[in-house]
Amino acid sequence: MNDRLIMLPIFIVSIFIFSCNNSKRAKKLSDQLTTTESYLGKPITHAFDKEIDNIIDKMTLEEKSGMLHGTSMFTTAGVERLGIPELKMADGPLGVREEISRDSWAPAGLDNDFATYYPAGGGLSATWNTELAYKFGNSVGEESRARNKDVLLSPAINIIRTPLGGRTYEYFTEDPFLNKKLTVPFIVGLQENDVAACVKHYAANNQETNRDFVDVQIDERTLREIYLPAFKAAVTEAKAYSMMGAYNKFRGEYLCENSYMLNDVLKGEWGFDGIVISDWAAVHTSVNSLKSGLDLEMGTTKPFNEFFLANPLIDSVKAGKISEAEIDKHVKRILQLMFTLKSMGGEDRKTGSINTEEHFKDAYDIASESIVLLKNNNNLLPLNTSGIKTVAVIGNNATKKNALGGFGAGVKTKREVTPLEGLENRLPKSIKINYAEGYQERYAPKKDANFGEVTQERVETIDEIEPKMLEEAINAAKNSDVAIIIAGSNRDFETEASDRADLDLPFGQVELIEKVLAVNPNTIVVMIAGAPFDINRIKEKSSALVWSWFNGSEGGNALADVLLGKVNPSGKLPWTMPKSLNDSPAHATNSFPGDKTVSYDEGLLVGYRWFDTKNIESSYPFGYGLSYTTFDIKNAQANKNEPYSEDETIYISVEVENTGNIDGKEVLQLYTSKKESKVERAAQELKGFKKVLVETGKTAIVTLALPVKELAYYNVEKKQWTVEHGTYNIKIGNSSRTIKSEVLIRIN
Ligand code: BGC
Repeated sequence: MNDRLIMLPIFIVSIFIFSCNNSKRAKKLSDQLTTTESYLGKPITHAFDKEIDNIIDKMTLEEKSGMLHGTSMFTTAGVERLGIPELKMADGPLGVREEISRDSWAPAGLDNDFATYYPAGGGLSATWNTELAYKFGNSVGEESRARNKDVLLSPAINIIRTPLGGRTYEYFTEDPFLNKKLTVPFIVGLQENDVAACVKHYAANNQETNRDFVDVQIDERTLREIYLPAFKAAVTEAKAYSMMGAYNKFRGEYLCENSYMLNDVLKGEWGFDGIVISDWAAVHTSVNSLKSGLDLEMGTTKPFNEFFLANPLIDSVKAGKISEAEIDKHVKRILQLMFTLKSMGGEDRKTGSINTEEHFKDAYDIASESIVLLKNNNNLLPLNTSGIKTVAVIGNNATKKNALGGFGAGVKTKREVTPLEGLENRLPKSIKINYAEGYQERYAPKKDANFGEVTQERVETIDEIEPKMLEEAINAAKNSDVAIIIAGSNRDFETEASDRADLDLPFGQVELIEKVLAVNPNTIVVMIAGAPFDINRIKEKSSALVWSWFNGSEGGNALADVLLGKVNPSGKLPWTMPKSLNDSPAHATNSFPGDKTVSYDEGLLVGYRWFDTKNIESSYPFGYGLSYTTFDIKNAQANKNEPYSEDETIYISVEVENTGNIDGKEVLQLYTSKKESKVERAAQELKGFKKVLVETGKTAIVTLALPVKELAYYNVEKKQWTVEHGTYNIKIGNSSRTIKSEVLIRIN
């Protein structure tokens, strides 16, 4: 066991398969309460502070400034005579990005910068599996070191406020609790490799429209309860070594020069000891940004010596607008980071590994737990291949590769198994595959795009389907025993720097899907996408519907294994799939995308909090996902009847019986609600979850630990987290809309 695991009574306590009767259970329960694991990172080292001061004493102002800004696209200047190396950074959230030229966004054109392509954020969060988050972080951390990086610009963890967000696929979820529980192990795993996470984009960066200037207005309680928890946990628990300041403004100030967010909250309240790196070209001043808490300016579009923290900063020091002592503080933080990462100090540093079978297996493991079974009415899935001679595989996404693209989230990889290849790999060789593309990925011509712009025009699609392609697809479906449609979106359509205009599925695919369904009732529809879409018509007409993601190097194999039943699906939606865009909170309140300013008028009611509180039906609720088996979840019990005090942890045990014919994993979700509260509250909030494997015919008792402090709301007047006393409902279910068992507890 490594040092990531600190024994703490925070998470799931224990699971055991039982055959005891209920009367014995209360007693049994206390026997189960073993301490358990949580993820804690190692802080920045201060062991070299004296040495660092000596180094700084010897530095010229120009050398110091060189460490505070990019001197190439992804590095800062080193100081050779003092043994200070460059700080080397790389994107990104889906794997280590290919090398970029030193002075432009053009790829460097190397042949040794391939990497494993990992599932995008939506896929990871759909696993609801914290161990996989750790595995992902650790695996991509090893790859970062093998590419000799100091900082990986990942994870990307902004809250999904609108389903239209261009980066929804890259981010994790609409829920702050799930967000932080995945963020922490990811960072801990990553940083164990002597590489820094750069958690992005701090903060309130929830849209691409006008992202380079929009001024976000969020009330303080919503900021604290929805938009900041994962960033806070990244600092206080995972000890993230760097944080990326976002492009946009927050309450009138750019986030890279927002003293409240950087100095007061991040460095002050949370004790952040690492460095704040700007998003690329997100800085607007020299003295003000440094004084407001920024440490390092990165970017492009102008000569590096014209960056705000380059010559303009040197001039400002000379003009007496900022002292050199102030500059030293930031340089010191960067040097402390370098000693922590062992790029200085002479200690042995991890060297990593890349493109290994182990890493492809990590990507496979995540992908195979991320796939969400939305509908399986006629038990067409898992596909029974006996008696099948032909399978039609239809859709552009069957062969589409999604690793590259999406600005900072692209990965150059040697392996990306497409869905068609996955099926070819996994279907018995006796079965003939009839492939038809069905629809084409087509876009309206773009106006001149300016390389390096941070906001681009919306991507316009052409949605007429080619009659000949449609005919081919229909014929393939007619002449096959089974049809599998692989449709959805892709990473040219869902992309950084622009939001989608609506929830419509592009390229005329709905027409295609309907026509295929009409000729072959044995049709399975697979959507590959990172964000919610309007799937109402498809949902109504299909009987087997599967949701997959931009799912990494092994995505096609994982999908085929789920379709063929080698893997029993266990993914759960990390966001709500609305029936219509206007049901979604930011749109229902007409507060997206704003203009110069965007005001988050839905307040606390983000995602399912809105749907559940307003009782609006969604297409599929948050936390939803079926299995090839069935589970009975019942008999939630608290570990005591007496009231709990604020420092205690509540242990809720619940029985999960696998009532189907095969082993399967279920995600127990714990929601809390408080009626008659003094403050506004959502109908319910996720405050615990655990994924468990239960064998067929067996019952597991799962105990979820809920620290009473998790029930706190942010008290704006007192500027502190406050636990309201009284009665709470603790609800256990397997989606926000399928609560199976409830228990009341009291806090005194
Ligand atoms: C993105 C960041 C990315 C950076 C460097 C920016 O446009 O917002 O997420 O890390 O570029 O590529």
